[in-house]
Order: sequence, then C-alpha cells, then structure tokens
Amino acid sequence: MDLYEYEAKQIFGEYGVALVEGEIADTPERVESVAGRLGRKVVVKAQVKVGGRGKAGGVKVAEGPEDARARAEEILGMDIKGHTVHRVLVEEASDIAEEYYFSFLLDRANREFLSICSARGGMEIEEVAETDPDAVVRTPVGPEGVDRDDALGICVAAGLPEEVRERAATVITALWDVAVGEDATLVEVNPLVRTADDRIVALDGKVTLDDNAAFRHPERTPFANGTGTDERELRARERGLNYVRLDGEVGIIGNGAGLVMSTLDVVAYAGEDHGGVRPANFLDIGGGASAEVMANGLDIILGDPAVRSVFVNVFGGITACDAVANGIVQALELLESRGEDVSKPLVVRLDGNNAEQGRQILTARAHPAVRQVDTMDGAAALAASLAAEPAGQR
Ligand code: GDP
Ligand code: MN
Repeated sequence: MDLYEYEAKQIFGEYGVALVEGEIADTPERVESVAGRLGRKVVVKAQVKVGGRGKAGGVKVAEGPEDARARAEEILGMDIKGHTVHRVLVEEASDIAEEYYFSFLLDRANREFLSICSARGGMEIEEVAETDPDAVVRTPVGPEGVDRDDALGICVAAGLPEEVRERAATVITALWDVAVGEDATLVEVNPLVRTADDRIVALDGKVTLDDNAAFRHPERTPFANGTGTDERELRARERGLNYVRLDGEVGIIGNGAGLVMSTLDVVAYAGEDHGGVRPANFLDIGGGASAEVMANGLDIILGDPAVRSVFVNVFGGITACDAVANGIVQALELLESRGEDVSKPLVVRLDGNNAEQGRQILTARAHPAVRQVDTMDGAAALAASLAAEPAGQR
C-alpha cells in the first residue's frame, strides 16, 4: 500500500525524522487559515499517490495566506496523472540550498534492501540516474541493518558535503527504523534538503507498506480504509482530540466518553422527529475543557460543511461548568479573531458543578449563535430541529 505524503510524514515524525511544520486541508478557505497560523511563506502541495507533482504544477510556494488560498484554488480539483487532488498539505516553505535524494528499497529478488543516495536530488533525479549513473549510489544493506557508521558510509559514497553528513546520517538511521518498524518496501525522501539557514529536513516523503505484513500494524489500518484519512479526524488526532466523523448533521461535543455516547443516542432519537437528522460526529473533549481544547473542538466541527447545528453537552465535574462556559466564550472569540464562521447555532446544555454560574456567563456574553437549554432531551430536540431547518431560517 502506497501512502500519501502527509501519511508518510506522520510516520517520519513518529521516528524523529526532521520535518517542517504543516497541516492537511481540503478547501481554499482552510488553506488560508492554516497558512495564517503557520505565519510565513508556505508551500501548498497536492496530495496524490503519484510522483512528479512538482512538474505537474501540484507544488506551489505562496507568499502569504491569501496567496496560499489562490494557489489552493488552482491545485484542488487538479488532475495529476489521472488522480484528482482532493487535499493539499500546507507547509512552512523552506529556502532550499541543496537537494539530496535518499531511499531504502526492498529488492525482492535478492530479499535485501538497497539504500539509494545522491547529492543531486530533486525533481530531475530520474534524469540524473540516466545521464550520470555514478551520481546515484546504490548500496546493499547487510543482514545487520543500518547503523550510524553504515549511514555515514552511504553519505560519503554519495558525496554529500562533509558538514551535512552527521545530520544526514541521523535521518538515514531513522528512515531505516521506519523501513524495519513499519514493514515498508520503500521509504523515500526526495528531496532531503539543506536549507539556506543550514537545517537538514525531509521535504517530501514516500512510503510503501508491505500489505502482507499489515496484520502486524493495526494502527496503520486507517491509512488503508480511508477512515483515518478524513481531514478532520487527522487534524483532531494532531490536536489530541478523541474525534470520529459520522454521517449526520448535528455536531456533538461533550466531556467524557460515556456522556458523549448517550448524547449521540438522544440526538439520533430526537432527529427522528426532525427530518431524520443524525449526529455528525463523536467528540470527547475529556476532563480539561479549556478554551483551547474547546476552540480546537469547535473549529473542527464548525468547519465541517455537513454540520448544521452543534450540541455542546457538558456535565461539570473536576472542571466545573463556569470554566467550561468561559472556555466556550473564549473559543468563539478565538475563532472569530481568526476570521472563521461561527454563525452555526450552538445549543449548550450545562449540568453538574457550578452549572448556574456557567449559564450566567453564557447569558451575559449573549453570543448570537449560543442557545441554552437545561435538559439533555430538550437540548437534543432543539439541536435536531435547528439542523433540520433550511439555513436561512436558523
Ligand atoms: P514531487 O514533485 O511529487 O516529488 O514533490 P516534492 O515534494 O518533491 O516537491 C517538488 C519540488 O518542489 C521539490 O523538489 C522542490 O524543488 C520544490 N519544493 C518543495 N517544497 C518546497 C519549499 O518549501 N520551498 C521551495 N523553494 N521549493 C520547494
Ligand atoms: Mn519529491
């Protein structure tokens, strides 16, 4: 199974390979907001499982958030060798000083890995391999694998500049750990770059997992069945949120898995009386419903075009309702300050510790999107009816 670049980089990150910061996005608006958050020049990269995206116009550097949005408008929907681009990776742009090539490739015939390395990486690597084969150095990996000395030897053989060898070797040993740890048949970084400010980072990533070993890696099944590749689930995971996307219209946020489960049930039940609307997601924000956690949760749910109303169901415990109410208020302000749309109706039900104080905080703030209902059934019914109404009437 081939992975997307962002999936390969997720694995690289887990193994300590140096990367630049980035986030996946599926709309130009989202790209603009991610670019704003990254706060400098960014690169917008088509996510398709084919090489040569750069040459096809699927990799573009943008000068700022608005430019990133414009580039995303060009790239999203583009066809690259028969693959439609549905998502892009938005990354901090790098000033590239040098581009190298590195890969581990399983040579099935000989049942051994080859390391392939070149000081002349980048988009022309195939041409380099043809016109100047000596510039692409292939070294079989012995039965003991690749240790630091082997990695340094590869760097020397490929003619990487002396000042970068130590750091390149660190990347190479980490990539070897990926190959072995993930049962990969290919682990490729092209380009591995040296930036103008002299950092060594993996700018691109390609990983092919051995399907025959999939049973050993249940944690990677989302890569195969597509569920974990949902852009929102990915973003939620990056932010440590327990989120699962469902197929309905009512966004759900609660604290505690049990409460969220029963919230799904009451919303599904209430939806039967309101055009059959259903929960749009599972999201447990856990015990510490801080403004930031709440903002991250609301951000993911409100940004989902399928969501038409949101039910925030909180039972105050260690984190009391007044803290959660403040979290909601601050989250809405934070999202508004980022220019995000917070007009979808938010039905809030607070119960438990300091519920009354929490309600007063929300009443005092009087945010136009927020409606409070004190019972779970009542709140579910209101959220369902709001989701069933045509947009203009909400
Ligand atoms: P590929 O064409 O599918 O292999 O996509 P890559 O991710 O390798 O990107 C293609 C090329 O775009 C790279 O070889 C770089 O030359 C260029 N590129 C990618 N990211 C950046 C960046 O952050 N800054 C600059 N200046 N160029 C980049
Ligand atoms: Mn590449």
